[in-house]
Amino acid sequence: MLSYLHAFHAGNFADVQKHASLTLALSMMQVKPSGIACFDTHAGSAVYDLSGERARKTGEADAGVQALWRSRGRLASPDWARLLDVLAGLNSGEGRLERYPGSPVWFRRVLRPADTLTAFELHPAEHDLLSGWAADQRVRVLRQDGLAGLRKQLPPRQPRLLVLIDPSYEIKSEYSDVAATLEQAWQKCRHGVFLVWYPILPGGLQEALKDAVEAGPVAKVLCSEVRLRQPPERGMAGSGVLVVNPPWGFGERLATMMEEAAEPLGTDHTVRWLVPEA
Ligand code: SAM
Repeated sequence: MLSYLHAFHAGNFADVQKHASLTLALSMMQVKPSGIACFDTHAGSAVYDLSGERARKTGEADAGVQALWRSRGRLASPDWARLLDVLAGLNSGEGRLERYPGSPVWFRRVLRPADTLTAFELHPAEHDLLSGWAADQRVRVLRQDGLAGLRKQLPPRQPRLLVLIDPSYEIKSEYSDVAATLEQAWQKCRHGVFLVWYPILPGGLQEALKDAVEAGPVAKVLCSEVRLRQPPERGMAGSGVLVVNPPWGFGERLATMMEEAAEPLGTDHTVRWLVPEA
């Protein structure tokens, strides 16, 4: 079942949290010169049209990245610079954003010569769009199951690893599949940094993922959650990111960013250790 299309949701509050976490992790890891193997297990498309029919149908970006962009003068943390630069680079004017980058674009914009990106995307149309965009020797786009593909590709050639796991959770079993893959991938590359995104849903389905990670062997797992102050009656009440092996100081810096984003996004943020260092 591949009915999910990220174009309806690109740039919403959850994307802001996820992509802020991703850009922060990347820039903190890139302080060291050694190459990083990046994996994006559920890549989606490349660049999303915020004026397009799909984005306009939900209006989710209006309450997300558009609100953040309008307030960018009040974002004091220097950690916003990379995210704002990427947005400015994709958009022409000072007014509303017309285009929003998907996760492979956030990766590719900052890849250094020794870094690589492997992006998995199963949806045929999304895969073709992404392949057409990725003309770069450091980027591979594979039409394969992202969880199985990741397990197969580890450990990487480069000394360091950054993985984004961002499924659409259309199938309930994805929560436990993600936890199982995280454990297997971590067993193969224990120093890797893994970012796992999940929705916070009224029925609490996401707890299956968190419970499984908490009960398993993976250590040093930070849990960042944003919750909407006025959640809709149905749908996402918030969004979360688990970060395995976060760079030192990552939690504090992400918390500062999310606190500054709280007013524009209408969210509250918490960050805590789900599993502390062993
Ligand atoms: N990571 C993207 C971003 O941050 O911009 C959004 C990805 S979207 C939430 C999830 C994507 O995973 C969809 O494009 C969907 O087609 C794709 N997908 C679904 N099942 C998959 C699988 N088993 N392996 C790889 N991709 C899959």
